[in-house]
Amino acid sequence: MRHSTHLNNPDVVLIGSGVMSSNLGALLKRLQPDLSIQVYEVTEELAQESSHGWNNAGTGHAGICELSYTPKREADGSVNVTKVIEIFEQFEQSKLFWSYAVASGMVDEPKEFITPVQHLSFVHGQEQVDFLKARHAGMSAHHFFAPLEYSTDRETIGSWAPLLTEGRPSGPIAATKMDAGTDVNFGAISRKLLGWLGKQDGCGIASGHRVTDLKKTENGWLLTVKDLATGATFQNNAKFVFVGAGGGSLPLLQKSGIAEAKGLGGFPIGGQWLVCDNPEIVARHQAKVYGQALDAAPTMAVPHLDTRILDGKKTLLFGPFAAWTTKFLHQKGSYLDLPLSVKPDNLATLINIGIHNLDLVKYLVQQGTQSMADRMKVLHVFYPDAKPEDWKLIDAGIRVQAIKKTDGEAGIVHYGTEVITDQDRSISALLGASPGASVCVNIVLEVIKTCFPQLLDTPQGLARIREMIPTFGIDTKLPENEALYRQHSQQANQNLQLA
Ligand SMILES: Cc1cc2nc3c(=O)[nH]c(=O)nc-3n(C[C@H](O)[C@H](O)[C@H](O)COP(=O)(O)OP(=O)(O)OC[C@H]3O[C@@H](n4cnc5c(N)ncnc54)[C@H](O)[C@@H]3O)c2cc1C
Repeated sequence: MRHSTHLNNPDVVLIGSGVMSSNLGALLKRLQPDLSIQVYEVTEELAQESSHGWNNAGTGHAGICELSYTPKREADGSVNVTKVIEIFEQFEQSKLFWSYAVASGMVDEPKEFITPVQHLSFVHGQEQVDFLKARHAGMSAHHFFAPLEYSTDRETIGSWAPLLTEGRPSGPIAATKMDAGTDVNFGAISRKLLGWLGKQDGCGIASGHRVTDLKKTENGWLLTVKDLATGATFQNNAKFVFVGAGGGSLPLLQKSGIAEAKGLGGFPIGGQWLVCDNPEIVARHQAKVYGQALDAAPTMAVPHLDTRILDGKKTLLFGPFAAWTTKFLHQKGSYLDLPLSVKPDNLATLINIGIHNLDLVKYLVQQGTQSMADRMKVLHVFYPDAKPEDWKLIDAGIRVQAIKKTDGEAGIVHYGTEVITDQDRSISALLGASPGASVCVNIVLEVIKTCFPQLLDTPQGLARIREMIPTFGIDTKLPENEALYRQHSQQANQNLQLA
């Protein structure tokens, strides 16, 4: 459905209709009801890019199953659990806000965007079994992860997820399981929040509209916008711009000319899934199972076998496999995106990335040239009895990894998310994609704290944000205060029908 409501000179323009813009827009409007907000989205429908259900894995990343978040300490073989505690806490913030959105009637039917699905980690080989045991010991000592179970017993693991053990040759295996994991349709929650936003006074949503340029003015930004249906171009002013354009953020940041964008580059990695719709197989798996990284795979390309619930239908998805692309966006991107993003100020960094990350380059070439048989080999690590006829290959979203000049000679590919804000705090942009959508509320709260501090600094502001996110400002106490965590978490789970 095309959206075409327009405001002239709004306070805020949100570029993009994904999970970042939608959560930011909803939070801002709740914090300051008279704020005028205009959303521009290049596709006809909302949230069709990375946030769309099929374009990401839908894992509510809470640190439960992702092995890359718990590095091993070489000295004593224990694991560092700092990162998983942080991610768990950040996902709790998302759940608290969405729970408020349900309880206050902003959005309905939580089952359409969040479902309980157990999260498992699964490993094989003695070294990895020892690692998982240490990981379990470190994590289960914390109240966030107290219910995490560990087993090396085939029968027990088979009772958690039979596809993992059937047909598996002998050898050491281990798994951990926690029931309180989730599958999230980030596209659905985005559309629901924007559905609410679009009905508020002083809000406009225009889809099929591409922001093509933005220039700094005395009072904010002048945006050039193209209506794709008519080809007409027009301009609009805004005091504040949020570039939540996903893969489209880097080109817009480069056009903005802000000093903070100098030297930034982007490196797209496409994703692909194997999908199984065979009802007999789908019915026998009810879990998200994360494994070990394969060779030089970047952390975000660690394979997993996932139950997905999309549009009320359960399906199985395995991947992601990486695919070579020069496009920054699936739907409305161009093969010229990568070449056109190369500028004199980021050329050297991009070349350095290529030279100093040969393993990554090799991995991408290997991924891009693999056959169905190669992909099935990886799937067999998780599901030994999988048959190629039950699986088809589909495209997932594209992640544009941020590359920064400040990393010095070697150049580092950033797998995390980066919020770029200019000095006068009139524009903020989001680059990168991991852990991404799950921690969107935490990310956009950072944008609000930086660019709209006046909305939080007063007693009324604090009361408003605490009505939506009761742990705001005391989040850091959750890891120490089990009773506080339980109180808020139980309420959120109840509202989201996860209990
Ligand atoms: C393969 C893969 C798996 C993932 N798995 C997970 C996961 O399991 N859990 C998780 O939490 N995260 C996951 N992520 C990350 C997550 O999908 C992203 O972090 C998140 O969706 C980003 O949201 P966004 O709003 O920033 O971007 P998007 O959802 O991409 O939204 C940006 C929007 O901006 C629009 N746009 C772009 N340029 C313009 C322009 N010039 N004018 C107007 N509109 C424009 C686009 O059309 C798009 O709709 C995964 C990502 C990928 C690619």
